[in-house]
Amino acid sequence: MSGLERNADLRALNTLGLPAKAHHLARPATLDALRQLLAERDLSQPVFVIGEGSNLVIDGDLPGLTLSLAIDGMVKVKEDDSHVWVAAGAGVHWDDLVAWTVAQGWQGLENLSLIPGTTGAAPFQNIGAYGVELSQVLEQVTVMEIASGKVLHFSAAECEFAYRDSRFKSRDRGRYIITGIELRLNRQPRCNIDYAPLQAFFAQRPGEAVTPAAVREQVIAIRSSKLPDPTVLANAGSFFKNPVVPASLAASLQQRHEKLVSYPQPEGVKLAAGWLIEQAGWKGRRLGPVGMHSEQALVLVNHGGATCDDVTALAEAVCRDVKARFGVELEQEPVRMPGPTPNR
Ligand SMILES: Cc1cc2nc3c(=O)[nH]c(=O)nc-3n(C[C@H](O)[C@H](O)[C@H](O)COP(=O)(O)OP(=O)(O)OC[C@H]3O[C@@H](n4cnc5c(N)ncnc54)[C@H](O)[C@@H]3O)c2cc1C
Repeated sequence: MSGLERNADLRALNTLGLPAKAHHLARPATLDALRQLLAERDLSQPVFVIGEGSNLVIDGDLPGLTLSLAIDGMVKVKEDDSHVWVAAGAGVHWDDLVAWTVAQGWQGLENLSLIPGTTGAAPFQNIGAYGVELSQVLEQVTVMEIASGKVLHFSAAECEFAYRDSRFKSRDRGRYIITGIELRLNRQPRCNIDYAPLQAFFAQRPGEAVTPAAVREQVIAIRSSKLPDPTVLANAGSFFKNPVVPASLAASLQQRHEKLVSYPQPEGVKLAAGWLIEQAGWKGRRLGPVGMHSEQALVLVNHGGATCDDVTALAEAVCRDVKARFGVELEQEPVRMPGPTPNR
């Protein structure tokens, strides 16, 4: 197979900076190149897909074939009086897509500004931030089935999106490679500024128009002040999902903890995992070379030289202490690779 790197160092392909190698790494830039790589691979070995590695915990070397898609391109597909449809390749850096659409004045992606990673990974966990999820603007996802090399399209409903979840992350994990997405954006600005800091910013400036560009600027300012930059301090963003617990448990916790941060949901009550971790005493605390960030307790950081075992030990300690104090189970957000499900 051409274009294969052997024993490729993956340290720069995972923002937690964990040491690992890919036995074979390829960066296909077209559907044909991807199909050829799949057809010629060793069928007894697994296939992995890595974007920019900003939501990964790599647990040792990756056997088989690792693909990092370089399929680029961002185009307007069609438009009507109210909407514009935009397509982008899986290899496009997500924030480049956001910046381009916002610069055109199209509304829909501004709250998702500055989320690290690739466009192809965005549907995998239905990325979300500041009151908006990708699922709200996604029209369809294009995939290649690993087993057959067939190209298929899934509508947003068929992607089975949920909070930080989709069919690609759950029941179809390892079955498809996302090669591109299509979005439906608004031509008229109808920005969502429900998130309290955004609301407060625009409330203080009644003369300032709530445009996609103005919201993007604020989102970037808020994110830059709150989240550690992985190029400075290695991390994979939020390390745990915000747990959704039964209303009865939330009510009893609220009685004991006046300041519990909670958001009612149709299926229960969502608790702020960062608050639980902080209350359990882990904010800014280290265990060996890893720790929970001193400003944002939800972010696990690698202070240098950490291995996957160090990350696992800290994650388990945090989960144990949160469970003991609040009776709440935390679930890890970043994907462990190689994971429990073999790719097909
Ligand atoms: C500082 C920081 C802040 C973050 N903030 C947010 C946030 O606000 N909201 C949020 O939702 N996430 C956030 N994240 C997580 C991360 O940015 C997103 O999950 C992002 O979509 C991951 O993109 P990636 O290309 O790095 O994917 P990777 O980490 O490389 O991969 C993640 C998973 O997606 C799969 N995958 C990747 N590409 C494809 C593809 N083409 N086809 C099929 N599967 C694929 C991989 O196999 C893996 O299982 C943050 C991360 C960091 C480091």
